[in-house]
Amino acid sequence: MNQSAPNSFRQGPDNRGRFGQFGGRFVAETLMPLILEVEQAYNAAKADPAFMAEWRLLLKDYVGRPSPLWYAGRLTEHFRATAPEGKGAKIYFKREELNHTGAHKINAVMAQILLARRMGRKRIIAETGAGQHGVATATACALFGLQCVVFMGATDVERQQPNVFRMKLLGAEVIPVTSGAATLKDAMNEALRDWVANVHDTYYCIGTVAGPHPYPTMVRDFQCVIGEEAKEQMQQAEGRLPDVLVAAVGGGSSAMGLFHPFLDDPSVAMVGVEAAGRGMDTEEHAASLNRGRPGVLHGNRTYLLQDGDGQIIEAHSISAGLDYPGIGPEHSWLHELGRVQYVGATDSEALEQFQLCSKLEGIIPALECSHGLAHIAKLAPTLDRDKIILLNLSGRGDKDIFTVAKHLGVQL
Ligand SMILES: *Cc1c(COP(=O)(O)O)cnc(C)c1O
Repeated sequence: MNQSAPNSFRQGPDNRGRFGQFGGRFVAETLMPLILEVEQAYNAAKADPAFMAEWRLLLKDYVGRPSPLWYAGRLTEHFRATAPEGKGAKIYFKREELNHTGAHKINAVMAQILLARRMGRKRIIAETGAGQHGVATATACALFGLQCVVFMGATDVERQQPNVFRMKLLGAEVIPVTSGAATLKDAMNEALRDWVANVHDTYYCIGTVAGPHPYPTMVRDFQCVIGEEAKEQMQQAEGRLPDVLVAAVGGGSSAMGLFHPFLDDPSVAMVGVEAAGRGMDTEEHAASLNRGRPGVLHGNRTYLLQDGDGQIIEAHSISAGLDYPGIGPEHSWLHELGRVQYVGATDSEALEQFQLCSKLEGIIPALECSHGLAHIAKLAPTLDRDKIILLNLSGRGDKDIFTVAKHLGVQL
């Protein structure tokens, strides 16, 4: 179902929040006024130089931006060693793992918390899966003295004890959600329910480019700082744009943040890497675009993993941050337009690259972006040596050492 190409891939969404047939706001009537209020406040804030300056200052002095661009020379040489003559692209990392709290999520959280303050909201709610978005939100709330309530599937609470404790140390209340499969999808449902019930004092801080309009656009705009910096840094390092951008895709915020500023540069190819779990042709993966169908979840229309009756199927990935049965609506649109290619990487491929990157670059990557590395391991040896691949190294892997140890059969 290819739609005709738009004049600009950066123009979306339309005024109803739609990217082609995707996105929009499919929410209960009671939620509609809140969402319109967020949209209005966001439009005013992004046009307000004082708001943007305050956010930029926080990014610089609190988050630690700009994050560096790193030439991964040893990884590059490693793939060249077994590549055909003259092949083996140069690999660069955009180092989002160096941000405060260890991932890209804090970029959009800081902006949303400033927005909540501007709207006079004193209570912040968030959903979290692995706990990374919960930790980032709890951090920002601690900084501004705001009440923070994080909804987390009971299964994830069990699996992610270190992050649960971190959130509590930061002063947040963590509410285990027991409905459904008690994972991220259910936590998000619960957060939306809470928001309806606490309209007047609460702001819902969403962790990715999903949810009803304006969230997919707003979170993307705030994450674009990644791609904007990378564009400039790549000009300085190489005097030109990269040839291929690679990013792992859960909900898709780190990928959109890197891709969006390059979407209208036709020489730049882009690859989003979905979690193929135990294999794309098994029942256990999180490949919403490669194996899902369009449907409605969490207030927007997008590709979803669903059964024959349209019931949402649980996603599986070794990486809790990619374990989401949906994907941001803009990715669904870019997928159907063919502007971005979406591929899969399995648990075991990601595990292998997790270890390789640690040993060769001295950087322990998050399991999420290890999926990006897994695609690069296949791609780099097929490209000429003067080609440049840029990976969004979205987070650090310290949080994942327990999972990895278990898979490697190591007792900690
Ligand atoms: C949450 C997370 C992701 C996945 O979320 P996106 O919205 O797809 O970016 C990827 N990498 C890291 C390190 C994360 O914490």
